[in-house]
Amino acid sequence: MIPDLDLCVDNEGRGYTPFYYLITAKQLRPSSLESFHRFIDLPPEIHLQILQCCDTATLFRLMHTSSYLRRESSKLFWEQLEKLWYHCDHYTVNDPEAGCTGLVRYSRHFTRHIRQLEVTLSRMRWRFADKSKGSRGATVQILQMLWRLVQDLFPSVQKVVLTGCQPFRKERLADSEHGEQDLLTAVVELCPPHISCFVAFDLHIHPHLCRLWRLAPGRSWRIVEESWALNRVVIPYSKFPDGSLGDFLSMKRKLSFYHLTRWGIDWLISETYAQYQDGAKFECPAPDCTEKFTEEAQWRQHIFWSSHWCPGNGRQAVALPYHSNTPDDVRAALNERKQRLEEIRASVQLIWHKLKDQCEEHPADFEKSFCNQMMEHKVLDADEPTPGDSQLYLFGFSLFDRTHYLYTGMPLEGY
Ligand SMILES: [Zn+2]
Repeated sequence: MIPDLDLCVDNEGRGYTPFYYLITAKQLRPSSLESFHRFIDLPPEIHLQILQCCDTATLFRLMHTSSYLRRESSKLFWEQLEKLWYHCDHYTVNDPEAGCTGLVRYSRHFTRHIRQLEVTLSRMRWRFADKSKGSRGATVQILQMLWRLVQDLFPSVQKVVLTGCQPFRKERLADSEHGEQDLLTAVVELCPPHISCFVAFDLHIHPHLCRLWRLAPGRSWRIVEESWALNRVVIPYSKFPDGSLGDFLSMKRKLSFYHLTRWGIDWLISETYAQYQDGAKFECPAPDCTEKFTEEAQWRQHIFWSSHWCPGNGRQAVALPYHSNTPDDVRAALNERKQRLEEIRASVQLIWHKLKDQCEEHPADFEKSFCNQMMEHKVLDADEPTPGDSQLYLFGFSLFDRTHYLYTGMPLEGY
């Protein structure tokens, strides 16, 4: 059985749980149990016992009922959420000198509850070492800023796992002085003492599995777990009021959900070729590939490294057939998800058309209102003195303004 038909992954096969899934109740099958209307007459200790058995989605709903239930259920809700790992978008912290950058703004009300955080550090050498022009002191300063930024955004964080870096090699590189391993060592050494810091590398065999490392005394790296499950949750974005900026950020959120959903479906389709194969050979899901493997590990290596497993490489994986042995209930669940994917696409298109029409009809008014909202809601970064300098503005206008040099048109065209 495929474990999670709601699986969401990014374009490199890393699994994510959208926050929306945690607070949305799964469709329950009709139950033979009868409803009970005297819950509130039960003694408080029984209430507590019942609430302790509830999942986050149920607790979230109970938080929106009476003030009595809100008090008890919100305590348990946040306790459950604190045990999860949250993924911090790599644009948010990868340029610590510029402050909090990127296109998303997290809800501060939410981030102050986060205890366990995944920070994806991509292109470390470029971002940290090359910027310091080889000066150790300058690198240390930037890395200290990184930690200040993490603590500012996530004041309650206790554990951080760093991901997105090149896996350690057995043979150290000759120029390792500025190599990633030494940079990672410096990042971990500068981590504030009350935060435990780990490093995880993707195993590429399952969306949630990584190899977990820690820095031991004597600056040596040790494996903590060969196969560690990192179940990442996407941090909810800040809500902005209606208006062009609010619409744009809402579209951005839906787009990200669309991609995670679509790549998740891709992953699940290729997975039917591992789960339901005949027992003899594992077939590659790509229709133009005839490779077959006796070992599942070889099959996984092949589909990952040959790009025959499709996320991000432009193939229409979502249209690939399921393996012929795929059971009917799994087919039905996957078909339903494809249907939901189309609904997300339609809602993205709706907002995009609305914004593009506004931009084309009254370009000056549109620009003014977008920029005013950016100033009003303080979404400019430290190195962006005016709205026109910001990534948000650049990205926004490249989507709606036909005359913009980065104009790409409707963001889901071609998918
Ligand atoms: Zn293949």
